[in-house]
Amino acid sequence: MTAHVTVVGSLNMDLVIRAPRIPQPGETIIGGVFHTVPGGKGANQAVAAARLGARVSMVGRVGADAFGGSLLDNLAAAGVDHTCVTQDAEAATGVALIVVDDAGQNSIVVATGANMRLSPADVVAAEPAIRAADVLLLQLESPLESVIRAAGVARAHGVKVILNPAPARPVPTELLALVDVLVPNENEAALLAGRPVGDREEAAAAAEALRKMGVGTVILTLGERGALLAQEGGTELFPAFDVTPVDTTAAGDAFVGSFAVALAEGKPMAEAVCWGNAAGGLATTQLGAQPSLPTRRALDDMLAHGKTKGG
Ligand code: ADP
Repeated sequence: MTAHVTVVGSLNMDLVIRAPRIPQPGETIIGGVFHTVPGGKGANQAVAAARLGARVSMVGRVGADAFGGSLLDNLAAAGVDHTCVTQDAEAATGVALIVVDDAGQNSIVVATGANMRLSPADVVAAEPAIRAADVLLLQLESPLESVIRAAGVARAHGVKVILNPAPARPVPTELLALVDVLVPNENEAALLAGRPVGDREEAAAAAEALRKMGVGTVILTLGERGALLAQEGGTELFPAFDVTPVDTTAAGDAFVGSFAVALAEGKPMAEAVCWGNAAGGLATTQLGAQPSLPTRRALDDMLAHGKTKGG
Protein backbone atom coordinates (compact mmCIF):
# COMPACT_ATOMS: atom_id res chain seq x y z
CA MET A 1 0.00 0.00 0.00
CA THR A 2 1.19 3.52 -0.75
CA ALA A 3 2.58 5.29 2.31
CA HIS A 4 0.29 8.06 3.56
CA VAL A 5 1.56 11.31 5.09
CA THR A 6 -0.81 13.93 6.51
CA VAL A 7 0.48 17.47 6.98
CA VAL A 8 -1.22 19.96 9.31
CA GLY A 9 0.34 23.34 8.58
CA SER A 10 0.72 26.56 6.66
CA LEU A 11 0.14 27.64 3.07
CA ASN A 12 1.45 31.00 1.85
CA MET A 13 1.79 32.82 -1.43
CA ASP A 14 5.30 34.25 -1.68
CA LEU A 15 5.43 37.57 -3.58
CA VAL A 16 9.01 37.94 -4.70
CA ILE A 17 10.80 40.90 -6.32
CA ARG A 18 14.47 40.85 -7.24
CA ALA A 19 16.15 44.21 -6.63
CA PRO A 20 19.68 45.61 -6.79
CA ARG A 21 19.57 46.02 -3.01
CA ILE A 22 17.18 45.92 -0.04
CA PRO A 23 15.52 49.38 0.31
CA GLN A 24 16.20 51.57 3.37
CA PRO A 25 13.24 52.73 5.53
CA GLY A 26 11.26 55.36 3.57
CA GLU A 27 13.02 54.56 0.32
CA THR A 28 11.46 53.41 -2.96
CA ILE A 29 13.63 51.62 -5.48
CA ILE A 30 12.94 50.04 -8.85
CA GLY A 31 13.23 46.29 -8.82
CA GLY A 32 13.28 43.59 -11.43
CA VAL A 33 10.84 40.82 -12.29
CA PHE A 34 7.99 39.98 -9.94
CA HIS A 35 7.05 36.36 -9.22
CA THR A 36 4.29 34.72 -7.20
CA VAL A 37 5.53 31.45 -5.76
CA PRO A 38 3.51 28.95 -3.69
CA GLY A 39 5.10 28.47 -0.26
CA GLY A 40 4.47 28.01 3.44
CA LYS A 41 6.37 25.30 5.30
CA GLY A 42 3.33 23.02 5.54
CA ALA A 43 2.58 23.15 1.82
CA ASN A 44 6.27 22.86 0.87
CA GLN A 45 6.66 19.72 2.98
CA ALA A 46 3.39 18.27 1.61
CA VAL A 47 4.60 18.80 -1.96
CA ALA A 48 8.04 17.37 -1.05
CA ALA A 49 6.37 14.18 0.19
CA ALA A 50 4.00 13.93 -2.79
CA ARG A 51 6.84 14.31 -5.27
CA LEU A 52 8.41 11.19 -3.75
CA GLY A 53 5.28 9.17 -4.46
CA ALA A 54 3.53 9.24 -1.09
CA ARG A 55 -0.20 9.75 -0.70
CA VAL A 56 -0.44 13.16 0.99
CA SER A 57 -3.32 14.94 2.73
CA MET A 58 -3.00 18.60 3.72
CA VAL A 59 -4.93 20.23 6.57
CA GLY A 60 -4.89 24.04 6.74
CA ARG A 61 -6.61 27.32 5.95
CA VAL A 62 -6.35 29.81 3.10
CA GLY A 63 -8.49 32.85 2.32
CA ALA A 64 -11.50 32.82 -0.02
CA ASP A 65 -9.43 34.95 -2.41
CA ALA A 66 -7.46 34.52 -5.62
CA PHE A 67 -4.22 33.49 -3.88
CA GLY A 68 -6.11 30.88 -1.86
CA GLY A 69 -7.60 29.41 -5.01
CA SER A 70 -4.27 29.24 -6.75
CA LEU A 71 -2.61 27.58 -3.71
CA LEU A 72 -5.30 24.89 -3.79
CA ASP A 73 -4.75 24.41 -7.53
CA ASN A 74 -1.02 24.12 -6.90
CA LEU A 75 -1.56 21.38 -4.30
CA ALA A 76 -3.90 19.52 -6.64
CA ALA A 77 -1.32 19.74 -9.45
CA ALA A 78 1.27 18.22 -7.10
CA GLY A 79 -1.14 15.39 -6.26
CA VAL A 80 -1.84 16.56 -2.69
CA ASP A 81 -5.37 16.01 -1.36
CA HIS A 82 -6.62 19.40 -0.14
CA THR A 83 -10.13 18.38 0.95
CA CYS A 84 -9.18 19.44 4.50
CA VAL A 85 -7.88 22.89 3.50
CA THR A 86 -10.67 25.34 4.35
CA GLN A 87 -11.23 28.57 2.41
CA ASP A 88 -11.87 31.21 5.07
CA ALA A 89 -14.13 34.12 4.07
CA GLU A 90 -12.99 36.19 7.08
CA ALA A 91 -9.22 36.26 6.47
CA ALA A 92 -6.78 36.74 3.61
CA THR A 93 -4.51 33.97 2.37
CA GLY A 94 -1.13 34.04 4.08
CA VAL A 95 1.45 35.97 2.08
CA ALA A 96 5.17 36.60 2.34
CA LEU A 97 6.56 39.81 0.77
CA ILE A 98 10.10 39.00 -0.23
CA VAL A 99 12.83 41.22 -1.67
CA VAL A 100 15.94 39.40 -2.89
CA ASP A 101 19.01 41.50 -3.67
CA ASP A 102 21.81 40.85 -6.14
CA ALA A 103 23.96 39.29 -3.43
CA GLY A 104 21.20 36.74 -2.71
CA GLN A 105 20.33 38.33 0.66
CA ASN A 106 16.64 38.63 1.36
CA SER A 107 14.24 40.66 3.44
CA ILE A 108 10.85 39.11 4.23
CA VAL A 109 7.60 40.21 5.85
CA VAL A 110 4.94 37.54 6.42
CA ALA A 111 1.22 38.19 6.92
CA THR A 112 0.07 34.86 8.36
CA GLY A 113 -3.59 35.58 7.53
CA ALA A 114 -5.83 32.52 7.43
CA ASN A 115 -3.04 30.20 8.65
CA MET A 116 -3.36 31.53 12.20
CA ARG A 117 -7.10 30.82 12.15
CA LEU A 118 -6.61 27.06 11.79
CA SER A 119 -8.54 25.96 14.87
CA PRO A 120 -8.52 22.83 17.04
CA ALA A 121 -12.04 22.23 15.65
CA ASP A 122 -10.60 22.19 12.09
CA VAL A 123 -8.10 19.59 13.25
CA VAL A 124 -10.79 17.45 14.85
CA ALA A 125 -12.84 17.68 11.64
CA ALA A 126 -9.79 16.33 9.79
CA GLU A 127 -9.47 13.35 12.13
CA PRO A 128 -10.18 10.80 9.36
CA ALA A 129 -7.21 12.13 7.35
CA ILE A 130 -4.95 12.01 10.41
CA ARG A 131 -6.11 8.56 11.53
CA ALA A 132 -5.61 7.09 8.05
CA ALA A 133 -2.00 8.32 7.79
CA ASP A 134 1.20 6.44 8.61
CA VAL A 135 2.85 9.68 9.68
CA LEU A 136 1.60 13.12 10.77
CA LEU A 137 3.88 16.02 9.92
CA LEU A 138 3.70 19.30 11.86
CA GLN A 139 5.49 22.68 11.91
CA LEU A 140 5.01 25.85 13.97
CA GLU A 141 3.41 28.21 11.41
CA SER A 142 -0.05 27.36 12.80
CA PRO A 143 -1.65 28.12 16.20
CA LEU A 144 0.06 26.03 18.90
CA GLU A 145 -3.23 24.79 20.34
CA SER A 146 -4.13 23.33 16.93
CA VAL A 147 -0.70 21.76 16.53
CA ILE A 148 -1.05 20.17 19.97
CA ARG A 149 -4.54 18.89 19.14
CA ALA A 150 -3.30 17.36 15.89
CA ALA A 151 -0.45 15.58 17.70
CA GLY A 152 -2.95 14.32 20.29
CA VAL A 153 -5.31 12.94 17.63
CA ALA A 154 -2.42 11.16 15.90
CA ARG A 155 -1.14 9.69 19.17
CA ALA A 156 -4.60 8.41 20.04
CA HIS A 157 -4.61 6.43 16.78
CA GLY A 158 -1.01 5.20 16.91
CA VAL A 159 0.09 7.49 14.04
CA LYS A 160 3.76 8.60 14.27
CA VAL A 161 4.20 12.33 14.89
CA ILE A 162 7.08 14.32 13.35
CA LEU A 163 7.50 17.95 14.44
CA ASN A 164 9.69 20.35 12.49
CA PRO A 165 9.80 23.19 15.09
CA ALA A 166 10.08 25.97 12.49
CA PRO A 167 10.11 28.92 12.59
CA ALA A 168 12.06 28.93 15.85
CA ARG A 169 9.78 29.57 18.79
CA PRO A 170 9.38 28.02 22.23
CA VAL A 171 7.44 24.74 22.37
CA PRO A 172 5.52 23.62 25.47
CA THR A 173 6.61 20.29 26.99
CA GLU A 174 2.99 19.18 26.52
CA LEU A 175 3.64 19.16 22.77
CA LEU A 176 7.11 17.58 22.97
CA ALA A 177 5.57 14.71 24.94
CA LEU A 178 3.33 13.93 21.95
CA VAL A 179 6.16 13.96 19.38
CA ASP A 180 7.97 10.83 18.17
CA VAL A 181 10.62 12.57 16.10
CA LEU A 182 11.70 16.22 16.43
CA VAL A 183 13.56 17.65 13.41
CA PRO A 184 15.03 21.10 14.22
CA ASN A 185 17.77 22.98 12.38
CA GLU A 186 20.65 24.52 14.33
CA ASN A 187 18.82 27.75 15.26
CA GLU A 188 15.67 25.97 16.34
CA ALA A 189 17.61 23.40 18.38
CA ALA A 190 19.61 26.16 20.10
CA LEU A 191 16.43 28.03 21.01
CA LEU A 192 14.57 24.95 22.28
CA ALA A 193 17.51 23.49 24.20
CA GLY A 194 18.63 26.92 25.49
CA ARG A 195 22.26 26.26 24.56
CA PRO A 196 24.54 27.00 21.61
CA VAL A 197 24.78 24.57 18.69
CA GLY A 198 28.13 25.14 17.02
CA ASP A 199 30.40 22.14 16.74
CA ARG A 200 29.41 18.50 16.74
CA GLU A 201 29.79 18.10 20.53
CA GLU A 202 27.45 21.04 21.15
CA ALA A 203 24.97 19.65 18.63
CA ALA A 204 25.01 16.24 20.33
CA ALA A 205 24.57 17.86 23.76
CA ALA A 206 21.64 19.95 22.52
CA ALA A 207 20.00 16.91 20.93
CA GLU A 208 20.38 14.96 24.18
CA ALA A 209 18.92 17.90 26.14
CA LEU A 210 15.90 17.85 23.80
CA ARG A 211 15.51 14.11 24.31
CA LYS A 212 15.46 14.71 28.06
CA MET A 213 12.53 17.08 27.46
CA GLY A 214 10.46 14.09 26.39
CA VAL A 215 11.06 13.45 22.67
CA GLY A 216 12.25 9.95 21.80
CA THR A 217 14.25 10.79 18.70
CA VAL A 218 15.89 14.06 17.63
CA ILE A 219 17.31 14.72 14.19
CA LEU A 220 19.27 17.94 14.09
CA THR A 221 19.86 19.19 10.55
CA LEU A 222 23.27 20.84 10.18
CA GLY A 223 23.19 22.34 6.69
CA GLU A 224 26.26 21.36 4.65
CA ARG A 225 27.44 19.18 7.54
CA GLY A 226 24.45 16.82 7.20
CA ALA A 227 22.27 15.66 10.08
CA LEU A 228 22.76 14.28 13.57
CA LEU A 229 20.51 11.45 14.72
CA ALA A 230 20.06 11.17 18.50
CA GLN A 231 18.03 8.31 19.86
CA GLU A 232 18.11 5.73 22.62
CA GLY A 233 21.50 4.09 22.36
CA GLY A 234 23.48 7.07 21.11
CA THR A 235 24.05 9.73 18.49
CA GLU A 236 25.32 9.39 14.95
CA LEU A 237 26.29 12.01 12.34
CA PHE A 238 25.18 11.39 8.75
CA PRO A 239 27.27 13.56 6.41
CA ALA A 240 25.59 15.70 3.76
CA PHE A 241 25.82 14.81 0.07
CA ASP A 242 28.49 16.54 -1.97
CA VAL A 243 26.49 18.93 -4.16
CA THR A 244 27.03 22.36 -5.68
CA PRO A 245 24.42 24.55 -3.97
CA VAL A 246 22.85 27.47 -5.82
CA ASP A 247 19.96 28.24 -3.45
CA THR A 248 19.40 26.66 -0.03
CA THR A 249 15.73 27.77 0.19
CA ALA A 250 13.55 24.83 1.25
CA ALA A 251 16.47 22.47 1.97
CA GLY A 252 14.92 21.95 5.39
CA ASP A 253 11.44 21.37 3.92
CA ALA A 254 12.85 18.85 1.42
CA PHE A 255 14.68 17.07 4.25
CA VAL A 256 11.61 16.86 6.47
CA GLY A 257 9.20 15.85 3.67
CA SER A 258 11.39 13.03 2.43
CA PHE A 259 12.28 11.86 5.93
CA ALA A 260 8.51 11.61 6.62
CA VAL A 261 7.93 9.50 3.49
CA ALA A 262 10.78 7.14 4.46
CA LEU A 263 9.30 6.62 7.93
CA ALA A 264 5.81 6.19 6.45
CA GLU A 265 7.23 3.49 4.18
CA GLY A 266 8.63 1.72 7.25
CA LYS A 267 12.32 2.43 6.54
CA PRO A 268 14.72 2.27 9.52
CA MET A 269 15.58 5.58 11.17
CA ALA A 270 19.16 5.71 9.80
CA GLU A 271 17.97 5.16 6.23
CA ALA A 272 15.28 7.83 6.66
CA VAL A 273 17.97 10.33 7.71
CA CYS A 274 19.93 9.48 4.54
CA TRP A 275 16.79 10.16 2.50
CA GLY A 276 16.53 13.53 4.23
CA ASN A 277 20.15 14.38 3.43
CA ALA A 278 19.72 13.33 -0.21
CA ALA A 279 16.53 15.38 -0.69
CA GLY A 280 17.91 18.38 1.24
CA GLY A 281 21.11 18.33 -0.80
CA LEU A 282 19.23 18.03 -4.10
CA ALA A 283 16.93 20.93 -3.15
CA THR A 284 19.96 23.22 -2.86
CA THR A 285 21.00 22.56 -6.45
CA GLN A 286 18.05 24.42 -8.01
CA LEU A 287 16.47 27.83 -7.50
CA GLY A 288 13.25 28.34 -5.57
CA ALA A 289 11.31 26.38 -2.98
CA GLN A 290 8.79 23.96 -4.48
CA PRO A 291 10.39 23.78 -7.96
CA SER A 292 13.61 22.49 -6.36
CA LEU A 293 11.99 19.58 -4.50
CA PRO A 294 13.32 16.28 -5.90
CA THR A 295 11.37 13.49 -7.60
CA ARG A 296 11.62 9.88 -6.45
CA ARG A 297 13.88 9.08 -9.36
CA ALA A 298 16.32 11.89 -8.50
CA LEU A 299 16.30 10.81 -4.85
CA ASP A 300 16.93 7.14 -5.66
CA ASP A 301 19.73 8.16 -7.99
CA MET A 302 21.37 10.31 -5.31
CA LEU A 303 21.08 7.54 -2.71
CA ALA A 304 22.57 4.98 -5.11
CA HIS A 305 25.32 7.05 -6.72
CA GLY A 306 25.76 10.30 -4.73
CA LYS A 307 28.94 10.90 -2.74
CA THR A 308 28.77 12.19 0.80
CA LYS A 309 31.06 14.97 1.98
CA GLY A 310 34.35 13.54 3.07
CA GLY A 311 33.02 10.08 2.06
P1 ADP B 1 17.15 24.71 7.07
O1 ADP B 1 16.96 24.93 5.61
O2 ADP B 1 15.88 24.40 7.79
O3 ADP B 1 18.00 25.73 7.78
P2 ADP B 1 19.49 23.01 6.93
O4 ADP B 1 20.25 24.18 6.46
O5 ADP B 1 20.01 22.27 8.12
O6 ADP B 1 17.96 23.33 7.19
O7 ADP B 1 19.40 21.99 5.69
C1 ADP B 1 18.62 20.82 5.74
C2 ADP B 1 19.36 19.67 5.10
O8 ADP B 1 19.61 19.97 3.71
C3 ADP B 1 20.71 19.37 5.71
O9 ADP B 1 20.59 18.50 6.82
C4 ADP B 1 21.43 18.71 4.52
O10 ADP B 1 21.02 17.36 4.39
C5 ADP B 1 20.87 19.47 3.33
N1 ADP B 1 21.75 20.60 2.96
C6 ADP B 1 21.60 21.91 3.28
N2 ADP B 1 22.61 22.67 2.79
C7 ADP B 1 23.43 21.80 2.13
C8 ADP B 1 24.66 21.94 1.40
N3 ADP B 1 25.25 23.15 1.24
N4 ADP B 1 25.21 20.83 0.85
C9 ADP B 1 24.62 19.61 1.00
N5 ADP B 1 23.47 19.42 1.67
C10 ADP B 1 22.88 20.48 2.24
